Amino acid sequence: MECCPNCGETLATRAQAKPYHYTESGLKNVFLLGMLSLHCSACEREFPEIENVPGLHAKIAEFLLRKPYILSGPEFRFLRKEMRKKAKDIALVLGVTPTTVSRWETGEENLGVANDRLIRSLYEMWLIEQGKVIDPATILSRVSSQFPTIKAKKKSIPIHIPMHPELTVAVG
Ligand SMILES: [Zn+2]
Repeated sequence: MECCPNCGETLATRAQAKPYHYTESGLKNVFLLGMLSLHCSACEREFPEIENVPGLHAKIAEFLLRKPYILSGPEFRFLRKEMRKKAKDIALVLGVTPTTVSRWETGEENLGVANDRLIRSLYEMWLIEQGKVIDPATILSRVSSQFPTIKAKKKSIPIHIPMHPELTVAVG
């Protein structure tokens, strides 16, 4: 049993009613639904519990790969960090300077459609490298059928990730 770091009361697990704005991801548009948290009934404090961060980040990345609009700077950075690549490593691969990568990520400079496709492709290759893709054909189909449909327009799309679909079913 975990105790409240504030008052020492025993904490109880409960599902959070409100979506959790997951800014820890480095993105401003990610919301976790039905997340569990530890709640203190004495001081009413809530401690969100983010379980399986790698699995959660994989879902966010999957959403970004399917995004029908050009990725934002922070979304580019998210994919780079998931691959555990430094800005200078990505810069070398893409043939630009680390400063350019940094300017893309902060939004000072536009990423451009080609670099949007390149970072998505690098991430797909990384998934294969990591043995996380059972069927590489799905990746090839994404490149050939989805890539031509990605719009160059900048648009932020909220990313809603259900954390415990089995619990939300019981609520309805
Ligand atoms: Zn407390």
